[in-house]
Amino acid sequence: MNISRRQFLKYCIGSAASLGLGQSFLSKLTRALAAPGAVPTVIWIDGASCSGCSVALANLIGDCSDYGPTNLEDLLINYINAAFAKTFMSAAGDLAVSSLREAQKNDYILVVEGGVPTAFNGMACTLFSENGVDVTMMDVVSELAQNATAVVCVGTCSSYGGIPASGSNPAGVQSVSEFTGIPTINLPGCPAHPDWVAATIARVLCGESLELDDNDNRPVDLYHRTVHYYCPRRPLYEKGAFATEIGQEGRCFYLLGCRGPYTIADCSARGWNGGFNYCIQANVPCVGCAEKSFPGDELIKR
Ligand code: SF4
Ligand code: SF4
Repeated sequence: MNISRRQFLKYCIGSAASLGLGQSFLSKLTRALAAPGAVPTVIWIDGASCSGCSVALANLIGDCSDYGPTNLEDLLINYINAAFAKTFMSAAGDLAVSSLREAQKNDYILVVEGGVPTAFNGMACTLFSENGVDVTMMDVVSELAQNATAVVCVGTCSSYGGIPASGSNPAGVQSVSEFTGIPTINLPGCPAHPDWVAATIARVLCGESLELDDNDNRPVDLYHRTVHYYCPRRPLYEKGAFATEIGQEGRCFYLLGCRGPYTIADCSARGWNGGFNYCIQANVPCVGCAEKSFPGDELIKR
């Protein structure tokens, strides 16, 4: 289904409150969308990841059929002008690679999903081949991060390493900032909430400067309270009404290892699945997927 710029704008306006977009920002976005070519291109690359962040974003757009885009490829290619996004784009092979090469000659925002495998000369993760040569995630990140207007890390893997960097994986996975030494805008979450992604990309496209937290480089308006803070089961925590097994209704999961008190993310206030529910409302503890330590055992007292 094709959508118009007007519909995308309608989606942003309809979702303005949950995306944290104010009136002045929306005016700016209106002007930017009215002048295609005036905003940087988006190049979206995927390294060591499960593509869950892409799937979460695709679900957001799919859920917005009443008031906006229903086709993510259309959104990325025609509205936020993504030159390369291999999970979503229909172009493949040389055509896709030449689109990326063309885009990197001008202003672009680099969006990275997934960590950077550094062992084996990076050969554990090749993104494409060019003139018969395999090009690794390491090669592409090194080259593109240097000249990007901004580097946005979508998900815990690109932000901090996440699951691919954990355990006994021999691929030597690193976060983008660890690998490049370049500061990144981090949107951790496994997956990242699609609202966080949409709002951040829209803001960076419009040249807004984002306030990031000191240690973790996350936008502070999206990441400033713990999951525990707004958890609907917090009164049960205060009363000491604790669950003894997963799936128990009407009980706090603290004694089952809930990481809500140690995890900064707005899931409990924002909700997932169009605000319908989130982990704890689905009767499982928060596993702290938005934290730097995820999926390890280290807990950071908040
Ligand atoms: S379920 Fe988790 S986040 Fe919710 S109140 Fe209990 S400890 Fe806090
Ligand atoms: S509630 Fe916890 S585990 Fe669930 S998405 Fe949010 S941060 Fe991740």
